[in-house]
Amino acid sequence: MNNDTQKDVLISTRELTKRFGSKEVLKGIDCDIRVGEKVAVIGPSGSGKSTFLRCLNLLELPSGGTVVVDGATLFHSDMMLKKDALDAVKAKIKALKTGEYSEEVQAHKAELAQNGTALAKAREELKDAQSKAKLYAIKASRSSGSVTEEDVAAAQAQCDRLAADIAALKEQSSALRSKIKQKRAEAKKSADPARLAELKTELAAAKAEFAEAKKQHAAAMRVTNASIDEHRRNMGMVFQHFNLFNNLTVTENITLAPISLGLKDLKAKRRELLKRRLRGEDISEEAAQLPDKLEIIENAKTTAKKLLERVGLADKADVYPATLSGGQKQRIAIVRSLALNPRVMLFDEPTSALDPEMVGEVLQVIKELADEGMTMVIVTHEMNFAKEVATRVLFVDDGLIKEDAPPEKLFGDPQNDRLKEFLSKIL
Ligand code: ADP
Ligand code: MG
Repeated sequence: MNNDTQKDVLISTRELTKRFGSKEVLKGIDCDIRVGEKVAVIGPSGSGKSTFLRCLNLLELPSGGTVVVDGATLFHSDMMLKKDALDAVKAKIKALKTGEYSEEVQAHKAELAQNGTALAKAREELKDAQSKAKLYAIKASRSSGSVTEEDVAAAQAQCDRLAADIAALKEQSSALRSKIKQKRAEAKKSADPARLAELKTELAAAKAEFAEAKKQHAAAMRVTNASIDEHRRNMGMVFQHFNLFNNLTVTENITLAPISLGLKDLKAKRRELLKRRLRGEDISEEAAQLPDKLEIIENAKTTAKKLLERVGLADKADVYPATLSGGQKQRIAIVRSLALNPRVMLFDEPTSALDPEMVGEVLQVIKELADEGMTMVIVTHEMNFAKEVATRVLFVDDGLIKEDAPPEKLFGDPQNDRLKEFLSKIL
């Protein structure tokens, strides 16, 4: 493996699959996206382009394969498989331990379970009967006439019957338990020694397998949980339908995530420093360097202002989204993603919901970002834009990347038949 090229790879997928129910939408995507690349994704509607993007930042959990971002494995299908393996081994161990090999034992156990249910029911009934008997006894002693001596006797007789039932059930259960024990012992004795040895080995192996699977599963989940948040921050995502909060101003929309994440980070950092101080470390210098709450808020606002100026919308800072055009909304949505200072931007048909006269202003913003060196993946139907801005174009069809080439090559000399057909329809 060449380390230099590996180092540049920001996002890497291998055999990435995604199923919705029985429908396989992604069928095994191998894709490396390097720092600085501008990757356009084209392909027919329903081919899996959006699902692919959503799997990259784990908005959708893949069904299989791997997603590695910046060297950290965010998703590995083993995480899912290990869970299944764990459950399978658990069942196997249980079966081996409980002597699954004897049908008689199983039958006794079923009977024992039934007895248990009957016992519980009889105990409930006895409780009711006892309260009733008590009540009758009290009423009879007051000689109010509504309860006769016979009623009291009948209630008491009912209690006695139930108590006897319970005793019998208990005895039966105890007999069943010893039968099970005996049968198990017999099964063990009469079992073929070779088979027994086999089972013992199997059990030991299953236990070891279980311990290993558990360890791996836990390790994988630890890495994933720790890194997903971090890596989502590094991946800005812009959707077809802007998804702005209509009850927040433009600035509030843009600063919402940076402020809440900034405060969360501050809290975590403070907690860590406190821990170290309690261990006796001198943390005064580091503590003095921590920003305060107001600083975090002011910084987020300053960044928002700068970004708004950059996309020509400084005058919209305090308005609500409802007053904006579609093109303006989408430019705000892009700014909102940029405010987290991502390393890569994922665009899912960012201009598809716009009136034609607004497409240009949004593409212009994206083009400027590309020119500044932002790594990006953009699903688009704007072929001219893909030709002009992309360094690489992926043709996705039926859940697979069918062609992967620089735009001159892909558009000028398409190889795949489905791509040729697709291009003939849209160009
Ligand atoms: P594209 O973006 O290329 O148009 P999508 O990735 O949106 O395609 O969808 C690919 C296929 O997956 C479509 O057939 C779609 O109906 C299906 N699909 C997407 N999301 C879901 C979901 N959440 N549940 C079930 N099916 C889905
Ligand atoms: Mg789509």
